[in-house]
Amino acid sequence: MFSTADADEPFTRWEANQRLAYVTLDHACSVTRYRCDNIVVPQVRESTQLGRMGARGIYQGGMTLWIDANLTQPQRQLTIFHETVHYLQFEISGADFLIASKCLLEYEAFEMTNLYVDLMGYGDEYKRTLETWKRLYRC
Ligand SMILES: [Zn+2]
Repeated sequence: MFSTADADEPFTRWEANQRLAYVTLDHACSVTRYRCDNIVVPQVRESTQLGRMGARGIYQGGMTLWIDANLTQPQRQLTIFHETVHYLQFEISGADFLIASKCLLEYEAFEMTNLYVDLMGYGDEYKRTLETWKRLYRC
């Protein structure tokens, strides 16, 4: 039998991630200047495997963004932001997303996420350098 959620009950991890996804989508639309009129909030799912693969997040098309289950704030929000940029690239470019250069897509996500770090006031230690982008994505 399903229980009724109590109003004072703390958010589940899923709810917390969805709230973050909602806010972050709004921010991502603003930072990228993509038209987001018909874009719905993506699902955020966590995986313990991503961290082991050396990744913080992954987006492979569709409605779901995956993030490493062990991320803490603000890295959690920045990773959701980064994957949301990919989600917008996919939603807005459609089939072109699949044939676009991975370097180009990652460069945009990298650049937008660095801008977002500034907008949120998180500090330069959360920014990625051009060298990291080159190394991570072999660009
Ligand atoms: Zn990326």
